[in-house]
Amino acid sequence: SPILWWVRRDLRLADNPALAAACRSGRPVIPVFIHDELVAGLGAAAKWRLGQGVEHFARILGARNSRLILRRGAALEVLRALVAETGAGAVIWSRAYDPDSVARDKAVKAELSADGIEARSVPGFLLFEPWTVETGQGAFYRVYTPFWKAVRDRPVAEPQPAPGIIPRPERWPTTDEIENWRMAAPMRRGAAVVARHARIGEEAAQDRLGVFVEERIADYKERRDFPAANATSHLSENLTCGEISPRTLWHAGLAAMDAGKAGAEHFLKEVVWREFAWHLMWHSPQIATANWREGWDSFPWSTDETTPEVTAWKQGRTGIPLVDAGMREMYVTGRMHNRTRMIVASYLTKHLMTHWQVGLRWFADHLTDWDPAANAMGWQWVAGSGPDAAPYFRIFNPVSQVAKFDPDHAYLDAWIAEGRARPSATALSYFEAVPLSWGLSPDDSYPAPIVSAEEGRRRALAAYEARSG
Ligand code: FAD
Repeated sequence: SPILWWVRRDLRLADNPALAAACRSGRPVIPVFIHDELVAGLGAAAKWRLGQGVEHFARILGARNSRLILRRGAALEVLRALVAETGAGAVIWSRAYDPDSVARDKAVKAELSADGIEARSVPGFLLFEPWTVETGQGAFYRVYTPFWKAVRDRPVAEPQPAPGIIPRPERWPTTDEIENWRMAAPMRRGAAVVARHARIGEEAAQDRLGVFVEERIADYKERRDFPAANATSHLSENLTCGEISPRTLWHAGLAAMDAGKAGAEHFLKEVVWREFAWHLMWHSPQIATANWREGWDSFPWSTDETTPEVTAWKQGRTGIPLVDAGMREMYVTGRMHNRTRMIVASYLTKHLMTHWQVGLRWFADHLTDWDPAANAMGWQWVAGSGPDAAPYFRIFNPVSQVAKFDPDHAYLDAWIAEGRARPSATALSYFEAVPLSWGLSPDDSYPAPIVSAEEGRRRALAAYEARSG
């Protein structure tokens, strides 16, 4: 009888343990992607990007004489229906580690097993299963550096090639049409603009990695902090959809280290930041919804998402050029440079005294590389409320950061159009992407700062001292 391969965030053929095990089972393989309530609840950009990935992967499977069956509904019901329709005796999938997926998957496994169906989950999304990394006291890690030291010398299996043949069933079950899922709808005008910047699918991801290792990894450590430098891998959108495996990145990094490329170890460290984020989310799932450290619940953060200040932040109209450049980069490309992610997050939580949850939600709606663990860790780190966080009083100065990280204003010029005689094409594309209802035009004058660097710093520190005193 066939095996159902429940395809989730593992949209790849190579180094895919779930697919490999399905092929080895000796059964015909039926790949199925389920649009369930967790997919329905995704932010606009993340949903659009996943939809693009699924559509692309369906074509790839089609070209391999296989097929991706698309179904909508609660996962358990869909899988049960497919078992009944196809006579499948087994279901396999690649594990997820966020609390909602964990709860769903546990229930699915228990119910299918009770039906007499073999239900199995396998690793593949992470290098190290979160429960296998423990401190000497048997606890989980709350600080990055000891986590890095605990894992850096662990053996990581070599990535496996794509299976030669994906055995097919005699008859295929029916499938939905992905267009009917309308996964781009919440993006409105933005989808066409963001699409120019997305690199979708396994082949694109492998190409990206190849170019990065060839041209940029050697200088990664020195250049990765400069937002205009194009010095990083841009693989986050592919990793979050599973279009490339973390083992592939790991071994590419190790090979670059062996070849004497100086920045390679630093790249491995960043890949381990991703692991650390998932380690934290697995062990303390509330990281996305509650202050991780005690004492922060009483902090006077505003939770109002509709104040003029928050609106200006969302629209990239704070009058602080580096903050606005970052917010616009995200709107146009679906990504933002890590340095500017930290700066815009600091400006929101400190200068604008707004709760990190407000920012976390905005990012979840606008990032094509949205990853619940990295997003939550990043926001709580900047806000000061998270594990291993920057101390609250370390407030990024969004003006002096320009002199340090964008001295020739290449990044600002790429994203700010107002007041420029000849605005760049990327800066102009922002006005194509944003909702018409925002009423923005590149001919507007650039706003004065809504809260200046100095005033915001004073306010934030006063609130912090009032709290701790
Ligand atoms: P590279 O520099 O090439 O790094 C390689 C890979 O390492 C990345 O693709 C990513 O998987 C991982 N990585 C690098 N830095 C981090 C980090 N600080 N934390 C966790 N993993 C990291 N990253 C996301 O993937 N999704 C998010 O939703 C997300 N939200 C963030 C929110 C805030 C407030 C902050 C400060 C950071 C956030 N990050 C997030 C982390 C980081 O900014 C991105 O991973 C990085 O910019 C992606 O670019 P890249 O692929 O070129 O990274």
